[in-house]
Amino acid sequence: MILKKLLTPITNPYIGPITVSALLIGYLALFILPDMSHKNEVTKIEESSIAKVNKLKIIRSYYTSNVIGEVKKHTNLKINFDHKIDNTTIPLPATLLHDLSAILPQDGIKIKMFSSYPFPNRANRILDIYEKNALEYIEKNQNNVHTQLAIENGKEVLKVTVADVFYDQACVNCHNTRADTPKADWKIGDTRGVIQVTQPLKNGLMLSHDQTIRVLMLFIILISILGIHYMVISYKRQKEHTLAQDILEEEVTNRTKTLNQYKKALDYSAIVSKADSNGVITYVNDQFVELSGYSKEELIGNKHNIIRHPDMDKETFKEMWKTIKSKNAWKGQIKNRTKDGVTYYVATTIIPILDKNNKIEEFLAVRFLISDLIESKLIAERADIAKSTFLANMSHEIRTPLNAIIGFSQILSGSKELNIEQSKQATIIQTSANSLLSIINDILDLSKIENGNFQTNNDNTDLYFICEHVVELFSKKALEKDIKLIFNMDHKIPLCVQTDGARIRQVLSNLLGNAIKFTPNNKKISLNITIISSDTDKLNIRFEVIDTGIGISQEKQKDIFQPFTQVDNKTNRKYEGTGLGLSICTHIIESLHSNLKLKSELDKGSNFYFDLELDICDDEMFNKDYFVKNLNFTIANSDNDLYHYIKRYLNLFGNISTNNDLLESTIFICNEFDTDKSQLELERKNNPNTPKLILFENENNLRNLILKENEMAIALPFYASKVNDSLQELLNQSTNIKENVSDDVSVNFTGNILIAEDNDANQELISYILNDMGINFDIAQNGQKAVDLYKVNRYDLILMDINMPVLDGIEAFHIIRKYEQEKNISKTPIVALTANTTKGDKEKFLSIGMDDYLNKPINMDKLNYVFFKYLKQNNQILKYNKIVKSFENELDTTKISDKLDSAKIVSKLGVSENIANILINKFKKTILDDLSELEKYIKADDKENIKNKAHYIKNSCLNIGLEEICDLLQDIETKNENIDKITHIFKNIKNSIIKLV
Ligand code: ADP
Repeated sequence: MILKKLLTPITNPYIGPITVSALLIGYLALFILPDMSHKNEVTKIEESSIAKVNKLKIIRSYYTSNVIGEVKKHTNLKINFDHKIDNTTIPLPATLLHDLSAILPQDGIKIKMFSSYPFPNRANRILDIYEKNALEYIEKNQNNVHTQLAIENGKEVLKVTVADVFYDQACVNCHNTRADTPKADWKIGDTRGVIQVTQPLKNGLMLSHDQTIRVLMLFIILISILGIHYMVISYKRQKEHTLAQDILEEEVTNRTKTLNQYKKALDYSAIVSKADSNGVITYVNDQFVELSGYSKEELIGNKHNIIRHPDMDKETFKEMWKTIKSKNAWKGQIKNRTKDGVTYYVATTIIPILDKNNKIEEFLAVRFLISDLIESKLIAERADIAKSTFLANMSHEIRTPLNAIIGFSQILSGSKELNIEQSKQATIIQTSANSLLSIINDILDLSKIENGNFQTNNDNTDLYFICEHVVELFSKKALEKDIKLIFNMDHKIPLCVQTDGARIRQVLSNLLGNAIKFTPNNKKISLNITIISSDTDKLNIRFEVIDTGIGISQEKQKDIFQPFTQVDNKTNRKYEGTGLGLSICTHIIESLHSNLKLKSELDKGSNFYFDLELDICDDEMFNKDYFVKNLNFTIANSDNDLYHYIKRYLNLFGNISTNNDLLESTIFICNEFDTDKSQLELERKNNPNTPKLILFENENNLRNLILKENEMAIALPFYASKVNDSLQELLNQSTNIKENVSDDVSVNFTGNILIAEDNDANQELISYILNDMGINFDIAQNGQKAVDLYKVNRYDLILMDINMPVLDGIEAFHIIRKYEQEKNISKTPIVALTANTTKGDKEKFLSIGMDDYLNKPINMDKLNYVFFKYLKQNNQILKYNKIVKSFENELDTTKISDKLDSAKIVSKLGVSENIANILINKFKKTILDDLSELEKYIKADDKENIKNKAHYIKNSCLNIGLEEICDLLQDIETKNENIDKITHIFKNIKNSIIKLV
């Protein structure tokens, strides 16, 4: 890869040839041409040096034959090397040559002559290394030229040396005969010495003509190749370009064609328009024109609000503009109207179209007519509401006679005068009516869920009581199928947590009911309630119902949480059921901010579970002081389920002893089949007073048991209060809490109470109740009067209505708290009273510092609970079981229809029959006047007074259980914008009340 990249400058067809040519020329210029030029110069210098030497030799030869001979013949002149110092002497031929060598050369050329046999006048001359080498070479190779490069004075020079040979006999004679000759036996052909020419090298570019032509040719060929190469490339490119252009043109043509088809299809099926960046219409298609009833001319240049329906929410358009201005597409439904005012709905998509600078150029809007769809949706919604309302009404209506059937069949089946057959039939009526009631209740819940009226409460709750109650309820059913029902509740769970106990009971009942229904005989079911995590004031609890039944296949697991869904209808006919339970449970758990989950395997069993994060509360009401304490248990050391279950509970009541202090134990515990039983029996003989608790898996096994003195037996399911009761009994303690508590407990409170309440009926009701209880009280007509009374009296408790004239409850509360602060007096507990059951009310009042909250109509048990908290008690302590039991009663008070019925009021408010009748009479006396006053305000469209009066009448109706009328009055009170609607609702209310009184 890297190699490929590095080679790109060569392999690339565009720059490759240029790179190769540059490299070639570079190589030529740097290496080949200098070398060639250098060789040329050397050859040239060599030739010129030989020529110079030859010329000198010719001069010497001429001088020898034409001058020396004549001089010798005709003159007395001497011939010698020292001719320069003697006027009668001429130079020897060799001296002439020597002298000329010194005179003739120019331009740094030097000519030297030297020999191995120099005459004495030159004998002292020392030869350098080059001269020595040259002399040696020439003496051996007389016919060759010796050429040598050398550096002299920093410059490159060429030394060319040739032989100086005897060719002439006269010369040989002369040399052999001279007195100072160093050698006298010369002969023709001997090398007398050498002549060396030294010439500097110029090192310029020196090319021969041929060479120059060849270099030029090379360049021309190179350029031609490059030219051809680029011409071919260019031609190819041109061809490709033309081809691409053709393809592009074809593509553009095709696309334009497709676009035109799309446009045609879009125009045909949708309502299309375009608008500029300010929203001014620039294009509309025929459909737009046809639907809107406006002409193209009327629409173009205008804005879209020309067709907008006035009902449309302005916020929708604000949001739309925000979206499209930020260059995003917007989708939504718009209600429009035609030129003639006919309403139509369109599903609209608006897309901003951007220019090349990414700025909004225009908007394209595509709409589809959905009027039919919306109409059908509205009809379906109305039908849905009607269905839910019908279901709610029906279940109310059915429940009233059903209660009577259940009640009377209960009395009937208990009657001693029935024969066996009749008593069986009465029991069948009772069970059938009960299951019908549970179906009706489910349907009512479902309709509430569908209406959005389903609410959960968040109250102080004793989970132990709730869960034990459910387990107890289902233990019978489990026993019928010999199913082992095991209940594990982590005893670290605090006694008081905040949640909706009634709804949890409903969910657990449903899950346990299903578990028993879908688990075969002799199997096992567990209800586990465990802490997953905890904090100082919060804890996360897991509730799980695990069965070992038929299980649910993976693909059906999601469906069963949908209403009316059962795994297999055929199977379910065997098991019965409506398929509503799990759907309702899902809603309940979701309302409690969690999810109902399921793990299940076919034929192995199911595990339904949910986790709830609950606040821990601190409430004296929820104590378990009546539990036996400090017991010492000795427990048979067997390793079976029962042993482990019971062990969980025992530390609630005391400690489990080690074997060593067996005799110290207060209680022995063993199970039905215990192998250690005999040993325990033995030990017990030593201490016969030590009681024994025997554990049984199955209630049926208890029946035939003959218990000895100080023995007690219990069977599954175990739970804290059951174990406690047995222990109490075993220890011969007569104070069985449950029994005591279920007796009528009369609780007397003492204290002075201030009641701020503007409604006459409510004032009357509270007066009756408090008089009955013998509690002192004052009633203030409004908030201001309450403040005034407070300032002059001392109260232990204030019950403060929230909606009051002159000064409302919240303002009065703030004034009182401020007053207490200024005067530095302790705070008087103030409890909010409200007839509005709006979600979050309770939290609102508590968050501003009010001490508690009571819903109207005031329920006796809740009132007792408040008194228990804030007033002194005269005698017996109200036990928690009683309170919870009372709350439980309250859950059944939903069985009220809008009829005046003293029994219902008794059950709802917990007051006596007498007070209930007084309330009804009072209502009958005043209600018509109140209604005509409200009617007057409605006619005058006096919104403020409509609201106040509706609230007032609602308070009166609440006390006597006219809940549906209360709901309608609540509607008038809260949604009083549309007077037509109010008039309509009022007519309904008036008609219903007239029928009642
Ligand atoms: P119902 O029990 O009245 O039919 P539910 O909504 O409570 O209605 O349950 C829906 C269906 O889910 C049941 O009909 C049954 O098929 C399946 N189902 C619920 N609980 C279990 C369980 N523990 N084991 C097996 N199937 C179950």
